[in-house]
Amino acid sequence: MLRVAVIGSGPSGVYTAEALTGQHQLPDIAVDVLDRLPCPYGLVRYGVAPDHEKIKSLQNNLRRVLEDPRVRFLGNVEVGEGLAPERLREMYHAVVYCVGSAADRRLGVPGEDLPGSYPATRFVSWYSAHPDEAAGGFPLDAKSAVVIGVGNVAVDVARVLARGADELRHTDVPDAALRALAAGEVTDVHMVGRRGPSQAKFTTKELRELGTLADADVLVREDELALDPAYADPSALPAVARRNVEVLRQWAGRPPAGRSRRIHLRFFLRPQELTAGPDGRVSAVRFVRTVPDGTGGVVDTAASEEIDAQLVLRSVGYRGVPVPGLPFDPARGVVPNDAGRVLRDGVVAPGEYVAGWIKRGPTGVIGTNRPCAKETAAGLLAHASALMARPLPADPLDALRAAGARPVAWPGWLAIEAAEAALGASLGRGTVKIPDWSGLLAAARGGAG
Ligand SMILES: Cc1cc2nc3c(=O)[nH]c(=O)nc-3n(C[C@H](O)[C@H](O)[C@H](O)COP(=O)(O)OP(=O)(O)OC[C@H]3O[C@@H](n4cnc5c(N)ncnc54)[C@H](O)[C@@H]3O)c2cc1C
Repeated sequence: MLRVAVIGSGPSGVYTAEALTGQHQLPDIAVDVLDRLPCPYGLVRYGVAPDHEKIKSLQNNLRRVLEDPRVRFLGNVEVGEGLAPERLREMYHAVVYCVGSAADRRLGVPGEDLPGSYPATRFVSWYSAHPDEAAGGFPLDAKSAVVIGVGNVAVDVARVLARGADELRHTDVPDAALRALAAGEVTDVHMVGRRGPSQAKFTTKELRELGTLADADVLVREDELALDPAYADPSALPAVARRNVEVLRQWAGRPPAGRSRRIHLRFFLRPQELTAGPDGRVSAVRFVRTVPDGTGGVVDTAASEEIDAQLVLRSVGYRGVPVPGLPFDPARGVVPNDAGRVLRDGVVAPGEYVAGWIKRGPTGVIGTNRPCAKETAAGLLAHASALMARPLPADPLDALRAAGARPVAWPGWLAIEAAEAALGASLGRGTVKIPDWSGLLAAARGGAG
């Protein structure tokens, strides 16, 4: 039997398990899917916005794979310091790392770490109930928030800030986050891009959605949009950029309709410095006005602008986090690999593979991870007989436990799901996520986890 460990139960990990079990030439295969969290699904559970129920429901497809009898989910097992990749190689014929790369890139400007300034992914983790971010503590008494970046995650956090808590009550947002958002005082959210609207990374569906919020006006400045050479005639742009510019043109110069909150979409402003107020907290972001340089980039001008902000969320891209004992390319933020085969000092490391964001970098949608995982799985299966030539000790679960792991298996996860449904019912809501480690582990152990 070929024994494979997949590290990470996000889309790429689950698609890898699917590809490994979906082939027919090797029916005798056992795949353990390990995750440091007691809950599966990676960023589908802990990244995709709570009000995007349709995308969230992809969890049902991933679930079917994890319920395959040849696949075993083992949550609450972190690979790294305590459980080194070297140890895993002794327990499995092959190990596929699918650990994602959801750490934020830094802006690299003074004041970036002032109190009140956070990576957007921390805010996402908080409203998604990621147990590492249970404490929250974001200053939602801020009147004005600046979101730096114009990708879909920037749109997500701007939208969550601008939505009333009432609009989120039907989602699985944890109760403490919902209460904090309900008590929040943010009236103005400024989403700011360094370049022009035709270069923004958000998709048109996400952009349009901003215009549908019950109690928020979307404001864009025609003079700022007009700096973009494609603004007057976007017809030559790629489809998404063209549609984005068309939506922004419709909104340009539209006066506010007097709603409680405002989303200001700003362009051609490069963050230069975050400045502090007398209390030491961030109070404003200073930007330099940029203009197109004629080759798709921008150059600074002498003009600058300051936007008041007591809360700053930075969303300018992601990077991988190194796993101790696994090679890492800090420049690209990925594990060096050749079509998914891990390279150690430039040489293929037998039995070690990668898939998903940690293989190719943080790009693409959830579905992009499927062909990526298939490529890795095909490479692994091509070497199956050589990999299986190495004898292994008995069930790796015993070895994992001997190494100090206390895995939460599938019944434990089902118990967490049941506890979240019960919590929601007790609050008069649908399912409500449990946001902290102790709550999750207590729920899991309450089941047969
Ligand atoms: C905030 C945000 C919102 C997004 N929204 C959308 C969307 O709406 N639609 C869409 O199509 N795409 C969206 N994406 C992109 C999508 O989430 C990614 O394409 C996808 O999740 C990448 O899959 P992955 O499996 O490589 O990584 P992940 O989903 O990050 O999964 C990695 C898994 O590995 C685990 N792990 C990490 N380190 C270890 C370790 N050392 N030991 C054990 N386990 C470990 C993690 O706990 C996690 O479960 C979003 C991304 C972000 C950041």
